Amino acid sequence: MTRQKIYDLINAERDRQNELHPENKHTPMEWAAILSEECGEAVRELNRLQDNEAGADINKAIAELIQTAAVCVRILEGG
Ligand SMILES: [Mg+2]
Repeated sequence: MTRQKIYDLINAERDRQNELHPENKHTPMEWAAILSEECGEAVRELNRLQDNEAGADINKAIAELIQTAAVCVRILEGG
């Protein structure tokens, strides 16, 4: 996947998150919890791939990694 494609996916996910939660304002600690949840989901999907678990899917891992990156962007935009 190209870097531009990755950035496009992150940008699309940011738009989706804004549509879902347009007014979200969180404290730094709340953002830490949200980011940890997304990161944990990404790690779970990567572990499933590593262990060749039934239902493991690279697209699920990609989706969770993109969601994690989008939360990072949201925090950098000012929470
Ligand atoms: Mg997720």
